[in-house]
Amino acid sequence: MVKKYDYIVIGGGSGGIASANRAGMHGAKVALIEGNAIGGTCVNVGCVPKKVMWHGAQIMEDMELYGEDYGITIKDRQLNFEKLVKNREGYISRLHTIYQKNLNNNKVDLINGYAKFVDAHTVEVNGEHYTADHFLIATGGRPAWPEIPGAEYGMTSDGFFELTELPKRVAVVGAGYIAVELAGVLHGLGSDTHLFVRKHAPLRNFDSIIVEGLVETMAREGAALHIHAVPKEVKKNEDGSLTIHFEDGSSHTTDAVIWAIGREPNTKNLNLAVTDVELNDGGYVKVDKYQNTTAKNIYAIGDVVGRIELTPVAIAAGRRLSERLFNNKPNEFLDYTNIPTVIFSHPPIGTIGMSEEEAKETYGEADIKVYTSIFTSMHSSITANRQKTYMKLVCQGENEKVVGLHGLGRGLDEMIQGFAVAIKMGATKADFDNTVAIHPTGSEEFVTMR
Ligand code: FAD
Ligand code: NDP
Repeated sequence: MVKKYDYIVIGGGSGGIASANRAGMHGAKVALIEGNAIGGTCVNVGCVPKKVMWHGAQIMEDMELYGEDYGITIKDRQLNFEKLVKNREGYISRLHTIYQKNLNNNKVDLINGYAKFVDAHTVEVNGEHYTADHFLIATGGRPAWPEIPGAEYGMTSDGFFELTELPKRVAVVGAGYIAVELAGVLHGLGSDTHLFVRKHAPLRNFDSIIVEGLVETMAREGAALHIHAVPKEVKKNEDGSLTIHFEDGSSHTTDAVIWAIGREPNTKNLNLAVTDVELNDGGYVKVDKYQNTTAKNIYAIGDVVGRIELTPVAIAAGRRLSERLFNNKPNEFLDYTNIPTVIFSHPPIGTIGMSEEEAKETYGEADIKVYTSIFTSMHSSITANRQKTYMKLVCQGENEKVVGLHGLGRGLDEMIQGFAVAIKMGATKADFDNTVAIHPTGSEEFVTMR
């Protein structure tokens, strides 16, 4: 027998859950199919456990770098990594319960198992068949592995979250969000951490002030950075340690290797060949601005479409889609411009809109005015470790519309959400200047730049 729904959502991660709940709220009969733990990447092996570890590392760093100069003597500072992991996993398990409760409240059926299409209108899960008027593909992605000999001796971010012991020495390979975040966390917790990037810098596609700030701060107080390092092979040594051999002939011996070289979409297991769903080059699902795929009544959102791979993006796209399909709002869609984002480095990075480089390329150099400020954070004004904050505003045109805001420094993570509202509304430099500062904070710098 084939069970029939109004809406079948494949993938119980950030986007799938949000879309399923919103459709349920509007009275649709919804099934959510999830092959693994509810919550997907973000809750189980992404944002949530990462942020807990980031807080842990931040506390360690505060004690080590600042405590003494504030007159606080910390005796016997020790990390119980196992306890940290246990408490983290306890929190995740509480989140699972909350997610299940919300699904129940919205009368969404949760089906455990992996779905694949058997025809354009039917999916199969554990031998059962389900049909629906509308299908959503929200299957997210998974970490990529390098194709080099010995890669299997390393682990990805998924493996990092399985660690029950802190490695004494660790090598992180990659140059994006995950590489920078995990290297920062491991260093902060006390591992001898080395970050290997294959080009000239980590986060090289972000605004130049971010790259400058990150590289300078890492050199002073962060993980050891190695540039132009392209791994060729990993060998396991007799004592259990690992040696990474690089293309330039150099090598590095460590206890653990973490690959953070990007992610790949989960599309292969869906048997999309029986549908009209087309994929892009990287295997991402092709969608239009309404999240329609090339197949009628099949939609896709989140990491599987490979646009901006962030939890709030997947959630926003999923909710808007359900508003369009089940609440008679035919024009709802997600505008992907000016989406703020934070990289949880130490200290964190916040960025909204265009980098200076992008803005100059888009509007021409003459049309862009840039304001920058680099200063010592007040938090470290009385301490031997002087941590700097880096900030930049990118303004365009005669009225100096703010098209980019970037920063690295203490508190940047909590600073930029409000600025994102202003930028989304089209704020100009004059609007920033007309706003009275909050003193003494780091954020006041954004409204007092000259
Ligand atoms: P996912 O959350 O990946 O969910 C997809 C779900 O589909 C999975 O649970 C999977 O098991 C399931 N699935 C796959 N195939 C099938 C199938 N055939 N049948 C049934 N189920 C299936 N974003 C932020 O905004 N902030 C952060 O701080 C942040 N930190 C991150 C840290 C790390 C280490 C990682 C890896 C990611 C981080 N992200 C962060 C990104 C964020 O996790 C993703 O953008 C977000 O989870 C995408 O949501 P999604 O719904 O598209 O996919
Ligand atoms: P990213 O795409 O951000 O970065 C991966 C980088 O690794 C590439 O840009 C590339 O940089 C480098 N790389 C690629 N291949 C290799 C290779 N073979 N060897 C060495 N380096 C390589 O991927 P991540 O996995 O870091 O993160 C995926 C996405 O998840 C992010 O883009 C982000 O959207 C999301 N995320 C968000 C977070 C947040 O919001 N705080 C946190 C974590 C993830 P280069 O070309 O410069 O070498």
